Formats: sequence, structure tokens, C-alpha cells
Amino acid sequence: MTTARSISQLAVAGVQQLVPYVPGKPIEELQRELGLERVIKLASNENPLGPSTKALAAMRKTLSELALYPDGSGFSLKKALAKKYAVDPAQITLGNGSNEILELVARAFLAPGLNAVFSQHAFAVYPIVTQAVGAKSVVAPAVNYGHDLQAIRERVNAETRVVFIANPNNPTGTLLPQSSLEDFIKSLPATCICVLDEAYYEFVQRKGEQDAIAWLGQCPNLVIARTFSKAYGLAGLRIGYCLSSPEMADILNRVRQPFNNNSLALAAAEAALDDSEHLQNTIKNNALGMKQLTEGFKNLGLGWIPSAGNFVSVDLSEPAAPVYAALLRKGVIVRPVANYEMPNHLRVSIGTPEENNLFLQALTECLNNA
Ligand SMILES: *Cc1c(COP(=O)(O)O)cnc(C)c1O
Repeated sequence: MTTARSISQLAVAGVQQLVPYVPGKPIEELQRELGLERVIKLASNENPLGPSTKALAAMRKTLSELALYPDGSGFSLKKALAKKYAVDPAQITLGNGSNEILELVARAFLAPGLNAVFSQHAFAVYPIVTQAVGAKSVVAPAVNYGHDLQAIRERVNAETRVVFIANPNNPTGTLLPQSSLEDFIKSLPATCICVLDEAYYEFVQRKGEQDAIAWLGQCPNLVIARTFSKAYGLAGLRIGYCLSSPEMADILNRVRQPFNNNSLALAAAEAALDDSEHLQNTIKNNALGMKQLTEGFKNLGLGWIPSAGNFVSVDLSEPAAPVYAALLRKGVIVRPVANYEMPNHLRVSIGTPEENNLFLQALTECLNNA
């Protein structure tokens, strides 16, 4: 040991500057801090109905096999996904959450000297995975909180290897029409990969619009990322996937950990796909809850960003941080989004009717006392 160097100086340049992702506050943490018994969490877009009972049963069955490594190829789950979406299993890559899919793309395609383009107010993980590999983030201004595809396209240059599009976007809930998205993806140069992040896919009611899967044949650069964390209620298991060309899947598979999906997650996800009733109940609860919350906002004279997801960002027309803190003291956890350049908004996940009601009551009290 010669000269003292701080560990942070040893980290690669991108990592030195990295600001870590801040997740929603865990229920137990708030209970510990404030000694509260009843805490409701509407902060991470989780399914308030929980996982499918079929998924739970599949996990119980798998418990006896935990001494064995999982199937590193995810054969059975890929087969089920391939059947559901009419694609070849070779077009599927499984991830430890769809978060890992974003990371695999960054590791495979981004490096110093290259850049990724995404929208203002887009999902916070895009700049993190980009910067972690030393590439540059290029942010296109949003329109009405939504992605401006033209502004994004204008920023794509010879060094752009990835464009991240969240549809619907988190935390805004904004949704792009499929036709403009298709034109946009097809306008990209062959040197640029489009990651279409569809974490909230199941909540979107598409009337006669094409599924992005239909474009895969003509778009070898398209990566459609989806997850079991949101509508399927399996966030704690960490399992997501992407659909792409087989060539793309082959590349992503090279940088993937050999056993990135655990046995319980593989079994639960496959069983969850088979429980359409639970999914339908989830979608129905979401639609009703969205109505309940937005009517509540209207009664309070508050605006909100119309959302296609399982969450909604409400505009308090004043700094949201004190209201967030006051809600915490009442045992209600929502998500502040100042880090998304939205300091007056709070993002609220749709809960059960009872949770939505408790949140609206608490919000009313907090606003009256502010
Ligand atoms: C929640 C979310 C994800 C990732 O969730 P995973 O749990 O890692 O699958 C990805 N993209 C967006 C936009 C999200 O909101």
C-alpha cells in the first residue's frame, strides 16, 4: 500500500458520478420509524390484490427443489410466453426484473463515446444503466409530460446506440399511440436499438391498435421489455423478460448471468400467465381505482396527468415534499417525483378501494393543514 486513494476514486468514471435509484419507502421502515401499526403503501406500482393463487401454489411446489440450481435457460417459462405471444422461444430473454433487461442492453451496446437518448420525465433507471457503463445520456424535452418522438428522433446521432421509450411512461403514465411509435421505430438508423419499455402493458386497453410484437419481424433492433412485477403482482420475485429478434436475444444472453432467474420466480411467472381471471380482476380494480382517485382529485380542485398505468401523478400546485412528509405521518406512503423534475407532483399507485379512500382522506387532511 503506497499512496492512500479513496475507493470512490478507484471506481470507473461513470460510477463515480452515479446517483443511486431511490425506491419507494418500505412499509416496515415507516412502521419502525413512527411506531405506526397500519401503514398503506401506494408508492411502487405494486398489485394491491397480490399475486395469483396459482403462482403461490407453484412456488410452494418448487420449495422442495431449492437445493438445485434453477433452469438457466428458463425453458418452460419461455415456452409459455412464446405460446401466449406467438413468438419463437429464441426471441425471448428473461431478466431479474425487466430492470435487468435494461441493464443487459446497456452492457451489450453502450460504452464511453456512445450515447442513449430518452425523454425528460422518463423512467429513472435509463440514466443509471447508461452512466454505469460510461455512456452519455441525451435527454429530449417532453411535451405535456409525455414523450416527444420528434424531439427524441432529432437527438439520435451516429453515436446513439440505444433509445429508451417507456410506454406508458413512469411516473407520468403518458401513452403514445402505436401508429406514431411504429413510424418512429422504423425511422431509426440501423445503428440504434429501440428499447420499448412496456412495464404497464397489461393495463393498456388498446382498441384496434397493433401490438408492438407485430413489428419485430421488420425491426431487428427492437427490444420489447415487459415484467411480472406490476399487473402480475410478483415484484418481490424479480422477473421480467424481453421480446426481440433471435439475433438480439443471442447478444443479450451473452452478458446475462447464467442463473439470473431463481426457481421460485420461474415457476410462479409461468403459473401466473395461466391465471387470466386474476389478471382481469387486477385490470378491473385498476380502472375503478383510477376513477376513484381522479374523482377525489377533482373534488379537491387538483389536476393530474391522465395515466394509462396503475398509478397517477397528481399536481398539488405547490411543493409536494411537505405533503409527502405529512402523509407519511398518517401512515400513507406515496412517491415524491422531484427527481423527475416534477416537484409539485406526487405519484400514487392505485390500491384497493379501501386504500384509495384512506389515501384521499389523508390527502384532504394534509392539504387543509398545510
Ligand atoms: C417498474 C418499472 C420497470 C421495472 O420493473 P421490474 O420490477 O424490474 O420488472 C421498468 N420500467 C418501468 C417504466 C417501470 O415503471
